[in-house]
Amino acid sequence: MATASTTSTLDVLRIRKDFPILNRKVNGQPLVYFDNAATSQTPQQVIDVIVDYYSNYNANIHRGVHALSQEATDAYEQARIKLQKHFNIPNAYQTLFTSGTTHGINIVASGFAEILKAGDEIIVSALEHHSNIVPWQMLCEKTGATLKVIPMTTSGELDMEGFDAILSEKTKLVFVNHVSNALGTVNPIEEIITKTHQVGGAVLVDGAQASPHIKANVQALDVDFYVVSGHKMCGPTGIGMLYGKEKWLEKLPPYQGGGEMIDQVTFEKTTYAGLPHKFEAGTPNICGGIAFGAAIDYMNAIGFEHIAAYEHELLTYATQKLQEIEGLRIYGESKHKTAVISFNIGDIHPYDIGTILDKLGVAVRTGHHCAQPIMDFYKIPGTVRASFSFYNTKEEIDIFVNAVRKAKSMLG
Ligand code: PLP
Repeated sequence: MATASTTSTLDVLRIRKDFPILNRKVNGQPLVYFDNAATSQTPQQVIDVIVDYYSNYNANIHRGVHALSQEATDAYEQARIKLQKHFNIPNAYQTLFTSGTTHGINIVASGFAEILKAGDEIIVSALEHHSNIVPWQMLCEKTGATLKVIPMTTSGELDMEGFDAILSEKTKLVFVNHVSNALGTVNPIEEIITKTHQVGGAVLVDGAQASPHIKANVQALDVDFYVVSGHKMCGPTGIGMLYGKEKWLEKLPPYQGGGEMIDQVTFEKTTYAGLPHKFEAGTPNICGGIAFGAAIDYMNAIGFEHIAAYEHELLTYATQKLQEIEGLRIYGESKHKTAVISFNIGDIHPYDIGTILDKLGVAVRTGHHCAQPIMDFYKIPGTVRASFSFYNTKEEIDIFVNAVRKAKSMLG
């Protein structure tokens, strides 16, 4: 389809050629893919790496003397180093491969079951994905610790006075997303980390939604844990990363027992492997790890500053166009937002709008976006969420806005 050249420095026409899926049609219409916050699309460069792995050196890693195993091990460990460098992690062994953000959070939550005791407090934010709520509730049930919540404001931001009011010497851990998946709000994680450290607590940042747009520097942030998913960053599903400060990774117990995570096994006593293997039991997603490394290379070749600037243009353009539609309300009005627009039109159910958009070739997400507390706050069942990526265009936004107008006239 015809696409935009924009005022940005990104050559979007060229970039779009890297994504074969963008050529397909849906319901006879050219695909307009605006569900990037759920999962990003995969460039040919990453697809080629996956095909190469299974065509040429598919083998299990860390345990074979043969050539294929060594090639696979080298590629997997090189991918770990790519992630380490990208997030400015001090050592490769603090860069743990996981199956995704959910897995990373569960590794930390399950480890803290050995550390927390009744009377301790842990703090979540009102803007979290269920992945960063439920594991902590389970932790509280196991330990008797109490879960406190940083409240949110109508503009979809964290109420930082509310945070100050619940933070205390009892706070052992705060977990907050860098960017809200439902609203796109960029949270003040620097302030949260500084204040939590002042009372002796640790901070886990869920970087699932930030990582496609913002290059996090874990050492500059001084964050204790940072978790991401490969499939939000042009990589495959089923792979992610957990960064942890060394003192925490040494202190936390293994998450799962099995092969790879041991030093010595006897029936009397088993000793565990060092980092990172202590947390990587069983055969990992080898191809996924290698492809995640390739995805990071791909995004860095474009440049995160260019990506952020261009996506901001898309966000501004789409926000202006949508605001011209009478009765349309956008949720989340923070000045610090990634390219996500959550909205409703009057009383029309978001699912109905999403269904009509799909008929017109436009893919958006509808529903509660795994963030039911946010929907409860606004007293709505859900929203329509359009989320943009660097391969989207203003022409696609025009198609989308026309489709929203059509849905409104059919349903309103
Ligand atoms: N946290 C946030 C903010 C998310 O947006 C998501 C996925 O949408 C997750 C966690 C869970 O990620 P995954 O399903 O890849 O584990």
